[in-house]
Amino acid sequence: MASNKPLIHVFLVSFPAQGHVNPLLRLAKLLASKGNFLITFSTTKSTGRNMKKAGANVSGDPIPVGKCGSMIRFEFFNDGYSDDSDKEVQDYKSYFTLLETNGKKSLITIINRLRDDGRPVSYIINNPFVPWVSDLAEEVNIPSAMLWVQSCACFSLYYHYEKSSLSFPSQEQPDIDVHLPNMPVLKDYEIPTFLHPSSQFPYIGRIILGQIKSLSKTTCVLIETYEELEDDLIKYVSKSCPIRAVGPLFKIPLLEFETAANITGDMTKVDDCLGWLDSHDPSSVVYIAFGSHVILNEEQLTEMAYGVLNSGTSFLWVMKSRLPEEFLEAVGGRGMVVNWSPQPQVLAHPAVSCFVTHCGWNSTIEALSSGVPVVAFPQYGDQVTNARYLVDEWKVGIGMRRRGEPEKKLIGRKEVGECLREVTCGVKAAEMKENALKWKKLAEAAVAVGGSSDRNLQEFVDDVRSLSVLVE
Ligand code: UDP
Repeated sequence: MASNKPLIHVFLVSFPAQGHVNPLLRLAKLLASKGNFLITFSTTKSTGRNMKKAGANVSGDPIPVGKCGSMIRFEFFNDGYSDDSDKEVQDYKSYFTLLETNGKKSLITIINRLRDDGRPVSYIINNPFVPWVSDLAEEVNIPSAMLWVQSCACFSLYYHYEKSSLSFPSQEQPDIDVHLPNMPVLKDYEIPTFLHPSSQFPYIGRIILGQIKSLSKTTCVLIETYEELEDDLIKYVSKSCPIRAVGPLFKIPLLEFETAANITGDMTKVDDCLGWLDSHDPSSVVYIAFGSHVILNEEQLTEMAYGVLNSGTSFLWVMKSRLPEEFLEAVGGRGMVVNWSPQPQVLAHPAVSCFVTHCGWNSTIEALSSGVPVVAFPQYGDQVTNARYLVDEWKVGIGMRRRGEPEKKLIGRKEVGECLREVTCGVKAAEMKENALKWKKLAEAAVAVGGSSDRNLQEFVDDVRSLSVLVE
């Protein structure tokens, strides 16, 4: 681990999910570009294996990154579940407990070993779903921060749910509206589904609320958003909680690091589809992708497939299930189906006209800051809140579905086609595109040198420096 310059050792711990790894690894690269850091990126061993299989450089030896002498290295921890095999987690409820018990033990061993090797960790950053990392940091007396990987609106919802006496839907009153300061009034089905009394996954809500409970143990909360996007709300929340908007993290021009050092977070091998997009006219291809978890049921998949087919548009579709054989024959060269796409590059491609999305926060902020209008198809969690904001607040698209999966509403092929037409060539299409381009421009300004996110990050880096020890 030799390096010539003294470095500050920052240890990043991610929950093992694509939507958590991506923003935290982007933050790692961004920190590396800002100062003299040794960054250790950590998540579970099976996630590390998946990243490696997908082609990432996940070396335990430090990889030089950026112009400030920084290094990034990887070290994966034991979650007590998948150390020797890559079996998928079936029961998240018991997995969260296993992850905490084993993860804590394994991380403490790693952090102690790094100290004994003369590379003491100066600062820890985690993301939601592993709130125990903030407890661990306190226990080993290392300052810590948390990267919130959802919108500030969702942060405010979880924060108020945990800490204030404002009313939320309950067993007694499941369908009341939610009134929070500096936010639009939300219908009960527009708050993160994990906070709703009808949620099938209340333990996920509890684990996220656990992160809010642990806030007193962290020095600040970095948020994957930008001030221009959630302006008044960020100002309001900052009054009670030390938050810093530092996004959109993927927008930061660090792609050269990725290609040079191959430090990527993809857990699935990326299929090449950029060449196929190159052969298409500007704004002629619909991009369809639902993140890393959502799988449509067969009936919905078929309706969506024929809705897209009948609309006559070209499309690029990220798909884990199999499409009906006769559908693929009918499509011919008009569509491309891939297992995993280089999504940020796809959204930046001029051929893409709109994005049919499940509205995960990463996909949401990537679309917004790439200037791509959306057809929102939220399923659960914060996706329903993001869909509400995309459609009604940021006005960059329409909702094919508004209430998420719990409603169990099948969207038929006719409706799918109508939605695609509305966003690409309907009466409001030009206005939605214009709005999307406005958010893109503001995102670019936020991450440019001296922009709001750049300044917030620099302040954070200064704080980390002031709290840290240098290591040779
Ligand atoms: N993504 C990708 N290729 C794909 C689909 C998704 O690179 O084919 C990335 C996407 O850019 C985003 C992340 O995977 O950064 C998905 O995160 P999101 O919050 O949108 O959804 P989740 O997977 O957490 O539901």
